[in-house]
Amino acid sequence: MRTDIEIAQSASLEPIAAVAARLGIREEELELYGPHKAKVSFDLWERVKDRPDGKLVLVTAITPTPAGEGKTTTSVGLAQGLAAVGKKACVALREPSLGPVFGVKGGAAGGGRSQVVPMEDINLHFTGDLHAVSAAHNLLAALLDNSLHQGNELGIDPRRVALKRVMDMNDRTLRHIVAGLGGKADGVPREDGFDITVASEVMAILCLSTGISDLKARLAAIIVAYRPDGSPVTAGDLGAQGAMAMLLKDALKPNLVQTLEHVPAFIHGGPFANIAHGCNSLMATRYGLKLADYLVTEAGFAADLGAEKFLDIKCRLGGLHPDAAVLVATVRALKMHGGLPKERLGEENPEALEKGMPNLEKHVENLQKFGLPVVVAVNAFPTDTPRELAFVEEACARLGAPVSLCEGWAKGGAGAADLAKVVVEACGKPNGYKPLYEAELSPKEKILRIAREIYGAEGVQYTERAEGDLKTIHALGMDHLLVCMAKTQASLSDDPNKKGRPQGFTLTVREVRLSAGAGFLVPVTGSIMTMPGLPKRPAALSIDVDDRGRVTGLF
Ligand code: ADP
Ligand code: MG
Repeated sequence: MRTDIEIAQSASLEPIAAVAARLGIREEELELYGPHKAKVSFDLWERVKDRPDGKLVLVTAITPTPAGEGKTTTSVGLAQGLAAVGKKACVALREPSLGPVFGVKGGAAGGGRSQVVPMEDINLHFTGDLHAVSAAHNLLAALLDNSLHQGNELGIDPRRVALKRVMDMNDRTLRHIVAGLGGKADGVPREDGFDITVASEVMAILCLSTGISDLKARLAAIIVAYRPDGSPVTAGDLGAQGAMAMLLKDALKPNLVQTLEHVPAFIHGGPFANIAHGCNSLMATRYGLKLADYLVTEAGFAADLGAEKFLDIKCRLGGLHPDAAVLVATVRALKMHGGLPKERLGEENPEALEKGMPNLEKHVENLQKFGLPVVVAVNAFPTDTPRELAFVEEACARLGAPVSLCEGWAKGGAGAADLAKVVVEACGKPNGYKPLYEAELSPKEKILRIAREIYGAEGVQYTERAEGDLKTIHALGMDHLLVCMAKTQASLSDDPNKKGRPQGFTLTVREVRLSAGAGFLVPVTGSIMTMPGLPKRPAALSIDVDDRGRVTGLF
């Protein structure tokens, strides 16, 4: 069997202008980055912005297990399937971070016959958006430290600097550092640290901004530090937003590439799915909706996190109206939720499947709470048996969710044509989409709503630190912000070991961070890593490039 990269490298790509033409994009509306990548111009937006939107389809998944689910693969497969049944389709995905490429996860461009290409470019430097985010963020950090050094006119408390530096690499050694050592000419010594670029609030802002002026206003609102009296110092106080926006002006334009079957794909923006909202840029989604009849998009992590944030944050802030949700599940993962160990997933085991089913049921119910038609996509693996598939189908029928077996990984669009038909039908159903909570509720009420309705918790408890954070947020007049939960994706609860559909648990909020520029509060449950490390044997050790520039070992 060929690997993802072997399939991607043997693909024949169309010139990007030909792919763009399929969406009615003119050549002069493209900014080319070589033959197969382009950014789309703001002029294009001016031309299409008053058109009606196409259908918006969200792809999300059950609680992941080490058995893997395949959201990106299914998203790309579905877009290809929609094209195969004659629809004008497009897919919008996040752009990958370099960190995971060299760690354990590998690339993020789909798999098998459902990938976006050029796969290496997308996974590496691509069109430079992540570098631009790093540069903009680090400019802000440099301005802040310079302000401290040049007499500290803003009265910043060096012990209460909220902004770290960023880089796009997994490097645990930089999580906690001391900066400014050396002497009087070398800055003010203080504790500092690095986050990975995709965890930067600048990335979240880039992904939620509707244009340059919105971008600037959001950047200016970033809280970078506090004064001894507790009042915040913002990027606007430092005068940083203009230069930051300049560094980001091209990064704000969506990137266009293609799938293996030449379906247009926007790959743009990649915020973390824990401390941020975890979906591609609002701009890319909006362009896709104006240009295609069906726009398929993926939200990171499982449905309790990615889908909830997509539906409560991105759609609300962006004025989007989703038409259907696709919940990706695998028979293997369901059996793992039912207690079967990883080594035995290849065996037919209806008992484990039955025991694991409540996890899927809970996610279907959750998506239905947002008023959306839900389709279950079973991402097919060769080990699935007809009996197991029939079982999943029956269980979903009881919930009113149609099921389709998706063979997009093995067969490309032809293998996802049935899923496409089921999704088209779902998009035609009455749809009462509404967010789960009103922004006007207090932060605790909002958090409780999500914890009870989506996670199935009995209640929420707060540590002393979290209570203190909420007091600060209240004093700053920020109670009205939306809530962006940071929780493990490995369980519906805040305990990664609780599989299936946990009940009777209390969610613990340990701290509440403030992303004033992005526009959300981040209640942190469990420990959240914003600078990952590398594993004992990093994927980097298997990656190589030959004299002709051909890459191996990237996956
Ligand atoms: P997610 O977006 O949920 O993180 P991906 O779509 O990126 O998942 O898939 C993760 C990995 O699993 C990829 O390497 C992909 O090739 C592989 N994969 C996905 N679906 C299948 C399948 N049906 N059969 C075999 N491998 C698959
Ligand atoms: Mg993915």
